[in-house]
Amino acid sequence: MKVFHTVEEVRKYVNQKRKNDKTIALVPTMGYLHEGHESLVKRAAKENDIVVASVFVNPIQFGPNEDFESYPRDFERDCKVLEKAGAAAVFNPTAEEMYGENFTTYVNTTGVTENLCGKSRPVHFKGVCTVVLKLFNIVTPDRAYFGQKDAQQLSVIRRMVRDLNVPVEIVGCPIIREKDGLAKSSRNTYLSEEERKAALVLSQAVKLGQEMVADGEKDTMKIVSKMKELIEKEPLAKIDYVEAVDLDDVENVLSISDGKKALFAEAVYIGKTRLIDNFITE
Ligand code: AMP
Repeated sequence: MKVFHTVEEVRKYVNQKRKNDKTIALVPTMGYLHEGHESLVKRAAKENDIVVASVFVNPIQFGPNEDFESYPRDFERDCKVLEKAGAAAVFNPTAEEMYGENFTTYVNTTGVTENLCGKSRPVHFKGVCTVVLKLFNIVTPDRAYFGQKDAQQLSVIRRMVRDLNVPVEIVGCPIIREKDGLAKSSRNTYLSEEERKAALVLSQAVKLGQEMVADGEKDTMKIVSKMKELIEKEPLAKIDYVEAVDLDDVENVLSISDGKKALFAEAVYIGKTRLIDNFITE
């Protein structure tokens, strides 16, 4: 697997592959990879000739009191995981390489970024969209792979691509979970043993919500309040939000209607660690 640290190197590499008519996939990550990331790379490798993964802890998507400094990093291990999963190259730039001096251009999405994580993390999606658009311009992928774990991020990126006519196909991939249900996340490493147990309320609430939907409940308020009730029983858990929104525009929905996908999304602090989980109706 090739390892690139500069825009110039990765550009040269993909241009060469393009000349040979290879299809190129991009899998953006912040590293400290787990089976969730691996599933994206494996799928991308099945559907494309060349998979370029990026490993970059993007400083501009973290707020001032968030975990940019402490975010777990292990690039050597990440390279092994990526190579095994089928990546042909990894792009691992420095923040300097990405933003250099006098960086002043940002992607500002409205509407889809105003609810859920956008509300509690005001600078987050501006940082995400800016780095993802830069990666699209650098790697020029035919397809880019994102996890439904970050469901709002997926909706935001789909919207950005549509609005700005970015020539890339966005592929959403299912949430990969631990055996006991906890959605895999690099941030799970922050949890103490006790918190790890408490964190199960997130997936339990998702399961409860899914069961209510399967039983025919259409009233999203009823579903959300049952999910909240379950989470509130856990003393270590503090709800940031539990909400039902339209998957496309991320606006709140009061009832589940046929033909429209509703996203039930939650963000919950377990101690100091903020975790997210969600499910989407059929
Ligand atoms: P991150 O490194 O957390 O920025 O995630 C990089 C990509 O992996 C994003 O598209 C995430 O949605 C995806 N991802 C993270 N965790 C999971 C998971 N448990 N299952 C599926 N995809 C995931």
